[in-house]
Amino acid sequence: MPPLPPNATIGIIGGGQLGRMSAMAAAELGYRCHILTPEPDSPAAQVSAGYTLADYEDQDALRRFAAAVDVITFEFENVSAAGLDLLASLRPVRPSPAVLRISQDRVAEKSFLRNAGVPTAPWEAVGSLDELREAAARVGQPAVLKTTRLGYDGKGQAVLRDPSDLESAWASLEPKPLILEGFVEFRCEISVIVARGADGGGSVFDAMENRHRDGILDLTLAPARIAPATAAEAGRVAWRVAETLDLVGLLAVEMFVDRTGRVLVNEIAPRPHNSGHWTIEACPASQFNLHVRAIAGLPLPPGLRHADAVMKNLVGPDEVALWPQIVATPGLIPHLYGKTEARPGRKMGHVTRLFPLDRLPGDPDISKALGCLGA
Ligand code: AMP
Repeated sequence: MPPLPPNATIGIIGGGQLGRMSAMAAAELGYRCHILTPEPDSPAAQVSAGYTLADYEDQDALRRFAAAVDVITFEFENVSAAGLDLLASLRPVRPSPAVLRISQDRVAEKSFLRNAGVPTAPWEAVGSLDELREAAARVGQPAVLKTTRLGYDGKGQAVLRDPSDLESAWASLEPKPLILEGFVEFRCEISVIVARGADGGGSVFDAMENRHRDGILDLTLAPARIAPATAAEAGRVAWRVAETLDLVGLLAVEMFVDRTGRVLVNEIAPRPHNSGHWTIEACPASQFNLHVRAIAGLPLPPGLRHADAVMKNLVGPDEVALWPQIVATPGLIPHLYGKTEARPGRKMGHVTRLFPLDRLPGDPDISKALGCLGA
């Protein structure tokens, strides 16, 4: 496909904040966006040229959506195989349906990573309580039992610390089958975001460190405070994943750094990622800019950073209630996603705080720099 010309239309599946910020980056590059979403007044549609309001499985709507756009990408990954095949028969879909299918299913994902020679925690697919007992004997405990599909933000998983936990955990998690993973006593959680073009060229951002609260990303520190050799290994692993997938688009690779400094991949997301929001202000080309460039066939500038950064999510009604103080705090760069209802656990916006390059301070000073949002 030749590069997408100015004023062409990018179709984005999903109406959330990742689509919103992708659409804003697309507009800067002279593209229009058209959103497919079942949600009226979605964050992405609010900033786009058009939208199709329909369920992701509505075949007629998928056809109308495809007819309105020149290339299709995603911020929501869980479209069915039939829907993906239909879209791919009508327009270029980037990343490809094959990549989406791998990321939709934890067993497919972990099998892919094993075949790619990428280290992960030990894991086994489990289809019955007996299989779970056998797998737990091999994997050991503690372990984490997860649904293979539709899990996000720590939902759809249970930590098994004792053999007596197996039965209740098996009963509580749906849909089956499940996957059992060894519990990683990690030093920290990191992610690496890479962009890759159709010509095989690409860009890799430095690893960032992610801290969760109640299973939801709370804080990202860029760069991660890890040994240079570990950061380099994380970058190599992420690039190997992108190359082996033959990715065209953007990919986030979430990893654990274990007690020995080894990097283990937890999961992959072939789309912009919450841990990369700081790139909007701290990089000449943000993750959203690179996402749009990669799917549009434009050249990919390197994933360089001109500042260090901390990103803090605004989750639920309590944090978004601090908005008047946030916008009044010098140095905080505020983002709101246009969601009208602030439910507990819902990501409403985020805040970025920049620091001079290679001068990320320690935790107490980060906390201070976040003002009313500091711990
Ligand atoms: P996930 O849905 O796989 O991204 O998991 C959500 C969070 O649960 C991760 O960010 C980790 O904090 C934790 N977690 C998931 N899998 C494991 C594991 N195998 N060992 C330790 N912690 C895990």
